Amino acid sequence: MDTLEGFRKGVPALMQVLDAHGVKASFFLALGPDHSGRAIFRIFRQRGFLEKMWRTRAPALYGFKTMCYGTLLPGPQIGAAAPHLAPQLAAAGHEVGLHGYDHVRWHDHLLNLPPAKVAREIDQAQRTYTALMGGPASAFAAPGWQCSLASRTALAARNFLYGSDTRGTTPYFPAFGDTVTKLLEIPTTLPTLDELLGFHGCGPQDFTRLVLSRLDKGLPQVLTIHAEVEGGPFLGEFARLLARCREAGVEFFRLGDWAQELLQTPAAIPAATVSLQRLPGRAGRVSCQGPQKARPS
Ligand SMILES: [Zn+2]
Repeated sequence: MDTLEGFRKGVPALMQVLDAHGVKASFFLALGPDHSGRAIFRIFRQRGFLEKMWRTRAPALYGFKTMCYGTLLPGPQIGAAAPHLAPQLAAAGHEVGLHGYDHVRWHDHLLNLPPAKVAREIDQAQRTYTALMGGPASAFAAPGWQCSLASRTALAARNFLYGSDTRGTTPYFPAFGDTVTKLLEIPTTLPTLDELLGFHGCGPQDFTRLVLSRLDKGLPQVLTIHAEVEGGPFLGEFARLLARCREAGVEFFRLGDWAQELLQTPAAIPAATVSLQRLPGRAGRVSCQGPQKARPS
């Protein structure tokens, strides 16, 4: 969840659909200011953003007001605007983690922020979360799949159980150069619906087929959905995807439960390098799991 609109409308809509299918999921909330309007400036800096905006019809997905937050309008504080929602998610049995504080700042500037400012983003997010939930979050998913040695080091120092900051294939410990960081990473393994939409004429039904074919191989898969997309105009398609998965006998799990299971035998978890890569259908570059690396003993 990236925006106030996504929080207030998309999250309850997703909760309803997930409940209807008996699925417990992991939600990652950006609870700080909604500065979505600033993302418009990515047009000038990132190849592929304009094309993606057009292809996914961003104004229809996000609404005009959202696109002005942080530019023409001041960015509202997301968590404070609907303080009951995060506790409601937890009460319904979902995992509730953090998705940064200022989503746009993290997404656009993480790699240029000094480590102290990266840590401050995490601490501000954690403070807001704790005020709403009565305790700290144990999970973190980086805005825009942007992570760095500084962000992973700060998360590891703050007692998070795991992060979900990258795109990859299997859980691992992220390495940056020669430094292997200590926080478990559970990457997103599947493409997202918005990456696939309109790509060579693909529609939501192709996305469902793709997800099912990847699940067919018997390996756990991590799907990222957006409250602004699957909780918005594509809610019906998402409900159909869940229904198809259930017919196929797919078992759902929360990332935190998997993390706990994996961390029973940390020696079995590999280390792998992280690098910025371009992905089909996504503007800019994202942090991706690379080749495995030997772990220091
Ligand atoms: Zn996001």
